Amino acid sequence: MEDLRLLIDLHRDSERQGPGGEAETRLGIRLAGLDPAAPLDIADIGCGNGSSALLLAQALNAHVSAVDLVPEFVDALRDRAAMEDLSDRIDARVASMDELPFEDEAFDVIWSEGAVYNIGFERGVNDWRRYLKPGGILAVSEITWLTERRPAALEAYWNEAYPEIDTAAGKMRVLERAAYTPVGYFVLGEHCWLDHYFRPLQGRFEAFLKRHGHSADAHALVRAEQEEIAMYEKYRAYFSYGFYIARKTA
Ligand code: SAH
Repeated sequence: MEDLRLLIDLHRDSERQGPGGEAETRLGIRLAGLDPAAPLDIADIGCGNGSSALLLAQALNAHVSAVDLVPEFVDALRDRAAMEDLSDRIDARVASMDELPFEDEAFDVIWSEGAVYNIGFERGVNDWRRYLKPGGILAVSEITWLTERRPAALEAYWNEAYPEIDTAAGKMRVLERAAYTPVGYFVLGEHCWLDHYFRPLQGRFEAFLKRHGHSADAHALVRAEQEEIAMYEKYRAYFSYGFYIARKTA
């Protein structure tokens, strides 16, 4: 899996592996109505290098169980937790989101930023529900249409890449059908994509290509990332990540 190795190498040193931001994670915490003093058990699924896991552990009286499929990302989170003196509050493990090593009703909160698409939003929110205590909070960000009508070329691109993309109304319907009550929603602004994700990523391209001797595969990956960035820049009025906060109903 040479391609996967390259992908991991390109992303392992980044602060985040997808669009997002500290202020946006904090807004999610506020909309979830979480009491900063109350002891909370939180799962962070598809945690990447752990920017949200670290913030959750800092901002709340929380124990965070963070999982990701990629051992390099889990290691990076462990290092960052140690540096910030949060090792006793963050348990980072390698696990797949479709086979989670958790007990039923173990968590007050399930957090997942920019990751549930890997198994699909509908499957993720349905499968993960059992790990929440009654009344527990689910906070997930998910690629979302911002408008009811979109250019045909953009529709074609996303129908190929992720056919589950939908409007916020559609995503909330999925949450309601899965027995959650939506309690908050907002859209990630452009800075979450451009300043926090794409620009730092572009800044790593040159060193990445050098590290891999300018191989054809390395160039192909950089080209693919550039295409994704160009797609966002051209069509950003039509899609972004939506951040969904929902409560597990009885
Ligand atoms: N939440 C992080 C990372 C988002 S990128 C952030 O906001 O920065 C998506 C993450 O999902 C990557 O770290 C990737 O390794 C992880 N991932 C992909 N498939 C997975 C799976 N089946 N189980 C767990 N994590 C997975």
